[in-house]
Amino acid sequence: MSQANVEQVDIVIIGAGFSGLYAIHRLRNYNVVCLEAGEGVGGTWYWNRYPGARVDIESVEYSYGFDDALQQEWCWPEYFSAQPDLERYANHVADRFNLRQNIRFSSPVDRMRFDEATHRWHVHTSTGAQFICRYVIAATGSLSAPNMPPWPGLDTYRGDVYHTARWPEGGVDFSGKRVGFIGTGSTGIQAMPIIAQQAKELVVFQRTPAYCMPSGNRPLDQDHEQDWKAHYRERRQQMLQTYGASLIEYPQFSAHDCTPEQREEILEKAWHSQNAFQLILAFSDVMTDAAANEMVCEFARNKIRSIVKDPETAELLCPTTYPIGGKRLCVGNGYFEMYNRENVTLVDVKSAPIEAFTPAGLRTAAAEYELDVVITATGFDAVTGALERIAIEGREQRKLVDKWADGPTTYLGAMTAGFPNLFMIHGPSTPAAQAQMITTGEWQVNWTADIIDAMNEEGLTCIEVTLDAERQWALEVDMVAQQSLHRLADSWYNGKNIEGKKGGFMIYVGGFPRFAEQCETAVADGYRGFIRQ
Ligand code: NAP
Repeated sequence: MSQANVEQVDIVIIGAGFSGLYAIHRLRNYNVVCLEAGEGVGGTWYWNRYPGARVDIESVEYSYGFDDALQQEWCWPEYFSAQPDLERYANHVADRFNLRQNIRFSSPVDRMRFDEATHRWHVHTSTGAQFICRYVIAATGSLSAPNMPPWPGLDTYRGDVYHTARWPEGGVDFSGKRVGFIGTGSTGIQAMPIIAQQAKELVVFQRTPAYCMPSGNRPLDQDHEQDWKAHYRERRQQMLQTYGASLIEYPQFSAHDCTPEQREEILEKAWHSQNAFQLILAFSDVMTDAAANEMVCEFARNKIRSIVKDPETAELLCPTTYPIGGKRLCVGNGYFEMYNRENVTLVDVKSAPIEAFTPAGLRTAAAEYELDVVITATGFDAVTGALERIAIEGREQRKLVDKWADGPTTYLGAMTAGFPNLFMIHGPSTPAAQAQMITTGEWQVNWTADIIDAMNEEGLTCIEVTLDAERQWALEVDMVAQQSLHRLADSWYNGKNIEGKKGGFMIYVGGFPRFAEQCETAVADGYRGFIRQ
C-alpha cells in the first residue's frame, strides 16, 4: 500500500445514513471522514427506493431535532413521508450543514484492524483507500445488510431479479409482466399493492402472514405542522421520555379491565386512528399479557376476514403463530384489499417451501411458476449483518465474527469488549427500531461524542468495555425481553429470520428512557464498565 493512499484522521464514521450524517456534524471539531458505500446520503432511505417505501412514524417526529432553524424551515408534505421526501431531506441536511466535504461516497469499508501499539484503527475500503484513525463510529444501521436466501439456480433464471433494498434508481416497469414476489413483511406489504396495479400477474409467495394496520397517511395538515413548529423544543424532550421516543398515546388500562363491547370500541378506534401503532398500544398489556394480546390478534384477523373476499385466501392471510407486535407491526395501504384483484394469487410456501430458481421462474416443493420478474423482499441480516460483513479485527487479532458467532454481545449496545475505540450507533442490544431511530440515533451520537470529547480533554487514547460489563448488560437485556411477548415471535429481532443465525434477542425492549438512563449513569459513575487509558 503506497503511503499516498493512507490518510490520517481522528475519526472514521461508517455510513452516511441519518445517524452518520448527524455524527459528522456533531464531531465537526475533529478531522472526520465518513465512508459511505452508496453514491448518496440517506442510508435506509437511499437504498430502499422500492415503490411504496414510506416511514410509519409521523415525520414531524421522524426528523432531526438538533437544529431549531432546520425544524422551522423544513416542510413535510405528508404525515408519513415517502422515501423520495426522506431522501430529499437527507440531501438538504447534507448541503445545509456542509457535510458532503467529509463524505467519501462509493467507499464500502471491507476490513479494519486495531493497532494495539498506537491505539489506532486501520480502516480499508474496497476501493483501496486506507484511513488511520483514533476512533471508528459504526453508523451502519440495523437493517442495511440485505438477506437473499440461497436458493439454487439463480444463474439459470432467464428473468430479472430485484431485492427491494437494492432497488434500481430509475424504477422498474412491470407492465405486461408476470411478477413473483417473495416476502410479506413491512417492505413487501408496502410494495405489492402498487406493483399489482401495473403487472399482468402478481404471484405472492407467503411463508408467514403479517399483521397489518392501515397507514392513515394523508397530506400534512398545516395546523398540525404549525403546532409542532411552535412546540418542537419541549416535544423532542418529551419524546425521549416515552418508551418508543414517540408521542403516541400510551394507555394506562389493561384489556382485562374492559367489557368485550368496550374492547371492540377501543380497537375499532385504534384501527381508524391513522396512527400505525395504536393497535398494539390499545391497552397497557398488549405486549406483556398473552391473553390481552390474543384479543387484539383476533380483532386484526377479523379485519382481514372482512376485507378479503375469498375465505380461503383470507384464512391463509391470518397470522396465528405469533403475537401481534411480536414482529414489527406492518403498515399498509390497500394490502389486504389487493387480494381481491383478479391478477393476484397467494401461494403458501410454508407448507411447500421455495426450492429453486428455474430457467423459467421459481419452483416450490408443490409446483413450478413461470415468472418474468422475481422480487425478493426477504429482509435483512439485521443488527449484526452490516458489521459482520466487514472483516473487523480487534485486540490480539480477534475477529468480530468469531466473537459474535453465538450472537452479539455488547455493553449498552455501544461497544464490544476486545474492540477498543469502536463505537456503534443503534448497535446490538439498543432499542433500535423499538424506538424512533432518528431521535434516538441523535441521542446516541451525542452520548458517544461526549465520551470522545472527555477522552481528548483528559489526554486519553483508548477506551474499551469489560467482559463483566457485557455480561451485566446481557442480563438486563434478557430480563426485559422475558417480560415482553416479543420473544415469542421468530423475527429479525432475534435473528430467527435467517436460517442458521445464532444468538438471542438483539433488541433492548426495556424502553428508551430506561436505556438512556443506564447509559448516562454508567458514565456518571466514573465510566462504570469501561476501561480508559
Ligand atoms: P422482514 O420483516 O424480515 O420480512 C421478510 C419477509 O421475507 C418475511 O415475510 C419472511 O418470511 C420472508 N422470507 C424470508 N426468507 C424467506 C424464504 N426463504 N422463503 C420465503 N419467504 C421468506 O423484512 P422487511 O419487510 O424488509 O422489513 C424489515 C424491517 O424494516 C421491518 O420490520 C421494519 O422495522 C423496517 N421497515 C419499516 C418500514 C416502515 O417504516 N413502514 C417499511 C419497510 C421496512 P418469514 O416471516 O417467514 O421469515
